Amino acid sequence: MSLFVCPVCPWRGRDHKYRHAKAGETTIRFDDGHIWTFPNLILHYIHDHKWLPPENFVKDVMEGHLSFSPFGNQEVVPQRVGYLAESDFVQGEIPKGLVDRLQNLIEQVSQHDDDLRYYGPGEK
Ligand SMILES: [Zn+2]
Repeated sequence: MSLFVCPVCPWRGRDHKYRHAKAGETTIRFDDGHIWTFPNLILHYIHDHKWLPPENFVKDVMEGHLSFSPFGNQEVVPQRVGYLAESDFVQGEIPKGLVDRLQNLIEQVSQHDDDLRYYGPGEK
């Protein structure tokens, strides 16, 4: 397991709960057709830096249902979220339960890795 260094943390020694998230990214797909790809460090950004993701992403995470149905020949382009640049580092009131829900979705998707992996940007 490789570690990914957070670009936001002011110093490296600081011990945050999600700081040493697994490197890489996860793609989640909801049954309404919304697909999101994000770095796994997004949990750290939200929990430790109070980074507030875009409203439509938050809504999907809080209310959406995952889909694992086959893609067939359908072309899919995930929306990318959490690839932080200073310009979109917005802090705010994090909805209660958001981090836990997102972590749970990541865990569910990781068990279906083969289904989702092939089209994610930067994936092997
Ligand atoms: Zn950090």
